[in-house]
Amino acid sequence: MKIKAISLVSGGLDSTLATKVVLEQGVDVIAANFVSPFCRCDKGRSHARSAGGPKEGEGGCRHEAKFVSEQLGIPLKIVNVTKDFLEVLKSPKHGYGSHINPCIDCRILMLKKARQLMDELGAKFLITGEVLGQRPMSQRRDAMHIIEREAGVKGLVLRPLSAQLLEPTLAETEGWVDRQKLLNICGRSRKPQMKLAEDYHIKDYPCPAGGCLLTDPAFSLRIKDLIDHDELTMEDIQLLNHGRYFRLSGKTKLVVGKNQHENEGLESLVAPGDYLFYPAHDDAGASGLGRGDFSRDDMVRLAAGITARYFDAARNSGEVAVSIKRGPEVQTLTVTPLPDEETKKYLI
Ligand code: SF4
Repeated sequence: MKIKAISLVSGGLDSTLATKVVLEQGVDVIAANFVSPFCRCDKGRSHARSAGGPKEGEGGCRHEAKFVSEQLGIPLKIVNVTKDFLEVLKSPKHGYGSHINPCIDCRILMLKKARQLMDELGAKFLITGEVLGQRPMSQRRDAMHIIEREAGVKGLVLRPLSAQLLEPTLAETEGWVDRQKLLNICGRSRKPQMKLAEDYHIKDYPCPAGGCLLTDPAFSLRIKDLIDHDELTMEDIQLLNHGRYFRLSGKTKLVVGKNQHENEGLESLVAPGDYLFYPAHDDAGASGLGRGDFSRDDMVRLAAGITARYFDAARNSGEVAVSIKRGPEVQTLTVTPLPDEETKKYLI
C-alpha cells in the first residue's frame, strides 16, 4: 500500500512544487487547504477572482488550491479555520511580524489542524512549501523548530524545497521519500522555483510570492483598529476591503466606497442596525456604511458629512442632500461636506 501524506496547499507556487516533488516519488498525496480569511492569492488569476473581499470561510486561496489539486490530480480537503485564526490574530503568543501578521502562531495553528487530519486520513507525514530563509518570521530554522514543537508535529513536516538543508524528517529516515531527490533551495530569490516550475511545465500560478492581507500596511492598520476596539469579527473584516475606512468614535465606524463596485459591495453588507448614506435625488456619488453607535445626532451628521465629501455634487455647491437609510426607514439630511483636512482626521 502506498504511503499517504498531507500537503498544505495554499494555491501558491511553492506548495504546488513541494507537492509535485513528493508525488514524483510515488507517495499518495492529499492536498489540504486551511482557509484563511486574509489570503489574496486570487488577485492574479481570472478564474478565481471574487468580488467583495473575504467572506467567512472563503479565502481566495481556496479557489487556487482547488485549481492546483485538479492540475496535480490529487484530492483536496478544505478546512475552515477562520474562528481559530481570529483568536490567534487578536493576541498571538509569538507576536506580529512587520505588520499585523502573526506568522509563527498562524503556522502553529495550520500544522495543528494538519496533524488532526493525519489521524483522520491515515497519513504518515506532512508536506509544506516552506523555503528556508524565505520569510523573515516563520521560515527561519529556529522558528521552524518552535512551530513544529508547539504544533506537536516534530519530525513529521517534510519541506521538499529545502529538505537537504534541514535535518532529515521521518519521511526520509523511514525511506518513504528519497532525500537525494529533494531540493536545497534557500533564501528569497524566486529563480529556483521558477526554473522548477518550468521543468514541471507548471505555467499558471497566481502568486509566486504568496499573498496575505495581514502583510499589507494599510490593511494591517485597519485590522489593528478593529482589534483595539474589540471588533474583530468576520462581519467587520468584510467591510475593510470596500473603500475608505473611518473611525468616528470608540464605538462607531464608517466605510465609504471609492467606486461603483465598492458602493454596491457595501450595500450588500448592510446588517440590521447599520446606517447607509448615499446621494439623495439619484445624484451621483459614494455610498457609506455606518456601523456602531449612532445614538447621537452629531454622529449621524458627521458620517453624512464625510460621505457627502465624495458626492459629485460636493464639487459645485456648499450643501448637499444625503439619504440615510436604516432598516426600512429613509430620511434626507442636508449637510455641508466635511473639508478634506477634517475628513483626514478620521481616516485609517
Ligand atoms: S503571511 Fe503569516 S499570517 Fe499570513 S498566512 Fe502566511 S504565515 Fe499566516
